[in-house]
This record gives sequence, structure tokens and C-alpha cells, in this order.
Amino acid sequence: MAIQRTRALVLRRQDFGDTSLIIVAFSREFGKLHGLIKGIKADYRRYGSRLEPLGLNDLVFYEKRQTSLQLISQCDLVESFPVLRERLAALTTALYWAELVDAVTSLHDPNHELFQLLVDALGSLGPIEDVQRLSRLFEVKVLATSGFFPRLEDCVGCRAVLPTTVVPTRREARLSARQGGLLCGRCGAKEPLAPLITRGTIATIRQMGRESWPALLRLQFTAITREELATVLQEFLGFHIDKRFRSLEVSMEPVGPVRR
Ligand SMILES: [Zn+2]
Repeated sequence: MAIQRTRALVLRRQDFGDTSLIIVAFSREFGKLHGLIKGIKADYRRYGSRLEPLGLNDLVFYEKRQTSLQLISQCDLVESFPVLRERLAALTTALYWAELVDAVTSLHDPNHELFQLLVDALGSLGPIEDVQRLSRLFEVKVLATSGFFPRLEDCVGCRAVLPTTVVPTRREARLSARQGGLLCGRCGAKEPLAPLITRGTIATIRQMGRESWPALLRLQFTAITREELATVLQEFLGFHIDKRFRSLEVSMEPVGPVRR
């Protein structure tokens, strides 16, 4: 049993008995963790944090490899993102992001890029930011950092390269979550339920995949792109999350008291 320290965001928490808490946290060094912290509710003053959801904390825990529930002995709040208590839209957005990160990650599977993305994204929620736009950026970056980014260079059906330089509002390709990328007009006809997407939106998704979070904060969408992004991202994330849960149902070991 090794003593470990890590910086982690609390994704969600639940009461455990009268005085203890179980948290699901996403840590920089260890990925997603389930942690039990005994007696904290009886004596918050002993700790430097109340382990509220979406708080960034430094945690000390005893790493037990045989079970998925780690025993947390210390917690110190590093950042609480005050805007979450001042603006409801910021709070609901942040909770949605936490849920998304929870859904695309497995226990004990570190992903530094995704951890930093969540910290940066929470840090950019302010009193006036357009939370819908931030969520679309966040969703694309979640796909990019979790290995689900769509193939956009050519058609996933026939490998034909789709031209990008002509009219940006032309809508002939489809984006297929099932096949993981773009379909040309001909291949798309065989999958009519995959949403149509304009060239402008394809170019925007590529740019979002490439650029860092701070650079993306300056990116604005046209009305068409905004609408298309909402549809295709919902399809893509929904497909991968469903697929992941179906595979987890057959392979998941018992994880203790915390179950989805
Ligand atoms: Zn094709």
C-alpha cells in the first residue's frame, strides 16, 4: 500500500454513512479515482477542503491495487471556481463537462491532456461567456483527447478526398459516428441517418482539433456551424459513450459502492 499525492477535480460525490464521503475524482497523475474519506462531514475544519463537486484539490491517498476504492487521508482545496456559485448557466455547464469526462474515462487511466482541458475549461467560465460555444469547443477537445476524433481528411467509405476550398456552405458530406468520420455524397447515401455537414463546419472541427484551448477561446461560429456542431457532436459523443458502457457491462469488475 503506497501513499500517493495527486491534484484532482471532484467530478461527483455521495454521502457514505453519516460522516463520510465517497468521491469520484479525475486526477492528473492517476486518472479517474474512487475515493473514500472517513469522518470529513463531522469535522470539515480538520481538512483544507469540503470536497465539493468541481473543486480542484490536492489529495493524499493510500493506493490499494486490489480494490477500486482508495482511502483519502488529506485534501486541500486549490481552486473552487467561484463563478459556479454565482451563475447557474456556468454551474450546469461545468456539471455537464464533469459528467462527460466521467463517461469517457476509465478508472486508473491517466490522461494529462484531458485533465488539463477540464481545468482550463472550468477556468474560462466567467460571468458573461457564451456557455453553448464553450461546450461545443469542450466536446470537440474531449473527442480529440480521448481518441474519438472523427476522420475528416477523406471519406471513411471509399477514401476519396473531399475538397474543402469551394463554397463553405455547401452541404454534401455526412458525418457518421458509426464509421468514425466523413462520408462523401455517394457513400453517405447508404447511411442517410448520418447528419449532413457543410464544408465550413468540417474546416472548423479540424481547426478545433488542432488548436490549444486558449487559442480556441477566440474562435466564433457562424449560425450554420453552430447548429451543425450541436447535432454532430451529440451524435458522436452519444455513440461512443453508449458503446463504452455496453462493453463495460460485460467486462467491468465490481467497483464498490459507487455505481453509475
Ligand atoms: Zn465515399
